Amino acid sequence: MDTSSYTRDFWHARAKSLKFRVNHFIDGAYVPSADCRSFATVNPATGQPLAQIARGGMPEIDHAVAVARKAFKSGVWSRMEPRARMAVLERFSALVEANAEELALLDSLDMGKPVMDMMNIDIPGSVTSLKFFAETIDKIEGAVTSTAVTALHYILRQPLGVVGIIVPWNYPLMMAAWKLGPALATGNSVVLKPAEQSPLSAGLLAELFIEAGGPAGVLNVVHGLGEEAGKALALHHDVDKIAFTGSTEVGKLLMIYAGQSNMKRVTTECGGKTPQIVLADYDDLDTAVTYAVNGIYGNQGEVCNAGSRILVEKTIHDDFIERFTMRTAQNFVLGDPLDPSTTIGPLVTASHQKRVLNYIDIGRKEGAALRFGGGVPNSFSAGAYVEPTLFTGVDNSMQIAREEIFGPVATIIPVDGIDDAIEIANDTVYGLAASIWTRDVAKAHRFARDIEAGVVWVNCFDHGDMTSIWGGFKQTGNGRDKCLEALTQYTQTKSVWINLG
Ligand code: NAD
Repeated sequence: MDTSSYTRDFWHARAKSLKFRVNHFIDGAYVPSADCRSFATVNPATGQPLAQIARGGMPEIDHAVAVARKAFKSGVWSRMEPRARMAVLERFSALVEANAEELALLDSLDMGKPVMDMMNIDIPGSVTSLKFFAETIDKIEGAVTSTAVTALHYILRQPLGVVGIIVPWNYPLMMAAWKLGPALATGNSVVLKPAEQSPLSAGLLAELFIEAGGPAGVLNVVHGLGEEAGKALALHHDVDKIAFTGSTEVGKLLMIYAGQSNMKRVTTECGGKTPQIVLADYDDLDTAVTYAVNGIYGNQGEVCNAGSRILVEKTIHDDFIERFTMRTAQNFVLGDPLDPSTTIGPLVTASHQKRVLNYIDIGRKEGAALRFGGGVPNSFSAGAYVEPTLFTGVDNSMQIAREEIFGPVATIIPVDGIDDAIEIANDTVYGLAASIWTRDVAKAHRFARDIEAGVVWVNCFDHGDMTSIWGGFKQTGNGRDKCLEALTQYTQTKSVWINLG
């Protein structure tokens, strides 16, 4: 997609004519909450409310789950001929691409990320995910096992039924698409609960599914707060699985809710504290620095795999910091998210801004050196902005090195070589991703083997495609998105033994 001709005026004009879909989407139609309750969604760049969104709870979740179950049982989607289902999902993917501008604007206004990040990252990521999983539909296989001639034993792989999808606000559309792809491809019905901070794109997404030929009742959206609508969905006795992306804290709650209700499956994609290791033998320090800067400040640092702990070998440490400081100033310009030259927008809400600023205070008090940033620039005081921030002299035991800040705050930790680096990198409760920069192939392999993370990059950061698995170790959770393995998380196996004797 060529996105070079977009201007700030274009996006602002387009924003003025935007229609907000504020109600739940159940059984192919928009419905308000039974009690007409609502909550506000606010533009974090201006602090101004955008819309009042229907606030769902148990009644709306009950309704959506019943509709989803009915659709599942009817077979209208779950037993649709595979290539017909594939055609619907392919059209769905194409329609997301055709509606890129509107979807990009909705998420950008709602949660503050630069609209051009939506056009260049989130939209292509969503389109590709839906297309990839559409393409798998008639390749999902069971198995026939070797048995005595007196029996035939085969294994069927079948959809689960009703899947509840609960997503966060940092990539509202893309996180939904990553889960809708495998959930729908395998024939499940879905109730999607978007984050309350970023509800605007979900209705349009569900509408596009219908426009693509998807049957009503298969993809439903219920808006609401996590502790109301999300909890009601996770505790529901007729939901077969919760697919979750969000914080580790809430991921743990969902496992409890499953135990308190019907032992539904729960897959979790949670927090991270990703280490980026730079060893002295790597001969292109500028490239490593560029990736390191982009790895922490991209998407305002509101990324599960934000490379927030940068572990630099002591002999190149000072040089690295100089270059890192320069490159940040070149690459990251705070601004209006609708201006194509903006590379860093506001954080998602004023309360999240407060939380991130509080971590910056903690870093100061812990004795780390604040190299740059740390504040809110005057010209952006109406929005939830935080400057790109760097702490050096950080020790891995500090709170700023241990807890997920989820904002544009980097920490640089000096290390004594590969052994020290791996030990520090693994000293975290999280295990999503990790990267290393080295020309020494033995060190690279050693790192890949010993690092406790689900995603490993060597001499790059955040590279991958739909064949690469997305998911973590430890308290990042057990989910696997994007890859073929994701299909197994939305299906169950059934053993069929036929006596031929
Ligand atoms: P969050 O956990 O606060 O909320 C995520 C979703 O859960 C929202 O829809 C929210 O309404 C819902 N929720 C909250 N409380 C709930 C409850 N008691 N019961 C049911 N649902 C509930 O997370 P967030 O602040 O929206 O997102 C940021 C987090 O997401 C970070 O920790 C980040 O690392 C993580 N994340 C992980 C990945 C990954 O792939 N591992 C990707 C993106 C974001």
